Amino acid sequence: MMKEINFFLAALLCAVFGFTACQQTPQHADNKPDMQQRPAYAIAIHGGAGTLSRAIMTPEKEAAYRTALDSALLIGETVLKNGGTSLDAVEKTIVFLEDCPLFNAGRGAVFTHEGKNELDASIMDGSNQKAGAVGGVSIIKNPIRLARAVMDKSPHVMLVGRGAEQFALENQIDTIDPKWFFTEERWQTLQEMLAEEKKNGKTGSLDPALRDYKFGTVGCVALDNQGHLAAGTSTGGMTNKRWNRLGDSPVIGAGTYASDDACAVSCTGHGEFFIRYAVAHDVWALMSYKGLSLAEAAEFVVNKKLVEKGAEGGLIAVDKAGNISLPFNSEGMYRGYAKPGERKVLIYKE
Ligand code: ASP
Repeated sequence: MMKEINFFLAALLCAVFGFTACQQTPQHADNKPDMQQRPAYAIAIHGGAGTLSRAIMTPEKEAAYRTALDSALLIGETVLKNGGTSLDAVEKTIVFLEDCPLFNAGRGAVFTHEGKNELDASIMDGSNQKAGAVGGVSIIKNPIRLARAVMDKSPHVMLVGRGAEQFALENQIDTIDPKWFFTEERWQTLQEMLAEEKKNGKTGSLDPALRDYKFGTVGCVALDNQGHLAAGTSTGGMTNKRWNRLGDSPVIGAGTYASDDACAVSCTGHGEFFIRYAVAHDVWALMSYKGLSLAEAAEFVVNKKLVEKGAEGGLIAVDKAGNISLPFNSEGMYRGYAKPGERKVLIYKE
């Protein structure tokens, strides 16, 4: 009889504690985020980081930036709300930002030393780690579209210059007269830098003392309702660049990275550093190999590692659970994010 009671008690305890254990999230849950926890979508954008001091910003200019960022967010958000993919949201949002002359991407791109616009872009699909990138193109209206075509329609990841433009012509990607990219403000910035170079007798195009610290690259990261992540970045590079210089924006792992198992990242800042420290991939690696949260990983890379190396810039990132992180170590970063019931556009450290 005693034996039977003990057995009954043991069974009862197992049932109670076994059930309770099942209620808790296992320590090593599989990589798919909990469907209950994850928002239906999440999206973040940036329009570059740098010296965005309030002193040189007029109220009209600030309002124009905020409106443009808000419209860009709305484009991506609409795609995601309607069940579209994160990849489409990223591409469409960046196309809008490329067409907006306020940003250093597409129309509004900065000028090279020779007074031309050379555009770079990349996109990555976190669901299969496919990626496409283009560098140094000067007749492509929307370089992000070409990057997507490289990913979808070629066996390659990165095409540059004339070859990339040839590929665009063969794949019905819109080309345009390079005059389209001209803006007076960017032209004047180049003239100022050239005059400064002359005065100083220096010709190093990206000499820190002469560099233009107002960036303006654009990027977008998104999580869709299928749990897929995507990232994209587009830029005119840095004012006064020479010798077909490429920055981090078209380099997968440096300026752009996405993998469904952790996060999607798009960077902006002094590209040479972002390439050398594989910044976008570094955020992913800290999450994946060290188990850091998105915020911990992104903060560490931008506000510790890059600061120690003397690199200015920032990044936007979203993880598989829909968390968003937007760290930067410069004075400001044009940025915004949206999730169901949440939406914000920011410029300074607010
Ligand atoms: N990262 C870009 C580059 O170095 C510049 C920027 O983000 O504004 O080309």
